[in-house]
Amino acid sequence: MALTIGVDIGGTKVAAGVVDEDGRIVEHLLRPTPAENPDQVAHTIGDAILELSKDREIEAVGLGAAGFVDETRSIVRFAPNLAWREEPLQRKVSDMVGLPVVVENDANAMAWGEARFGAGRGETHLVCVTVGTGIGGGIVFDGSLYRGRWGMGAELGHMQAVPGGRLCGCGNLGCWEQYASGNALVSEAKRIAEAEPDKAVTLLEIAGGTPDQIEGQEVTEAARQGDPAALAAFSSMARWIGQGLADLAAVLDPGCFVLGGGVSRAADLWIDETREFYDTHLSGRGHRPAADIRCAELGASAGLVGAADLARRR
Ligand SMILES: [Zn+2]
Repeated sequence: MALTIGVDIGGTKVAAGVVDEDGRIVEHLLRPTPAENPDQVAHTIGDAILELSKDREIEAVGLGAAGFVDETRSIVRFAPNLAWREEPLQRKVSDMVGLPVVVENDANAMAWGEARFGAGRGETHLVCVTVGTGIGGGIVFDGSLYRGRWGMGAELGHMQAVPGGRLCGCGNLGCWEQYASGNALVSEAKRIAEAEPDKAVTLLEIAGGTPDQIEGQEVTEAARQGDPAALAAFSSMARWIGQGLADLAAVLDPGCFVLGGGVSRAADLWIDETREFYDTHLSGRGHRPAADIRCAELGASAGLVGAADLARRR
């Protein structure tokens, strides 16, 4: 069976694995990302691939990179969390390992992994939304990954949800991810804890007393204990996600949405409200089939598995 290698390159770690045609990870390794130095990043990736391909026939390599990847799937034009600027990652790595290499945006690779082997198996039209510190996205259109004209498509988190709203890391105001992400969850919880501390007694206790110590884990824990501020923060995020999915359905009409990312690990706390809000805000509701909203199934390995499968289809 033909094997490929998938590599998921994040701001803090590089995960690499040998993947078979059925999306199974045969062998896997992790390395810290030397995020400051592009040459060292390429070197770390190359080393991992060489180690995994020892004594094995490898057909190709797919790299999932957290950044803007050009349409030739070779160059990372820009990455918010790594020092990549017009980085010729494909050439650097393929020179080192002597194998065909393709570079994909990490959220696209994750969407593809879920579409092929995870929660979206069998769907030809799918939108994957990763809810983490920000919001990432990937679109599968008519059975293929949709990359856009220049490779920069599906940056779903940066649709403007609120004109003149909160400042986003991208420089614009009011982006969806400022309302519907893990960061948004935390800032909403902090805001409520500051304005109405009597509603956040449990949350503040868990966080050690002051709102500025609140992090995602604390909000989740407090919500599980029924803290009104934590529940309200989840509710706000859930509705913003539902609204965004309804907007995406108006444009793309997918068969299903797959929700992944760190915040989806606590999906039981918010996904029902997202579904409800989606159902009541979908245009043409009641007269059209509504896309299923599902939780991702592959967890942290979706990007690696997706990148490996995309390498097969280069
Ligand atoms: Zn933005």
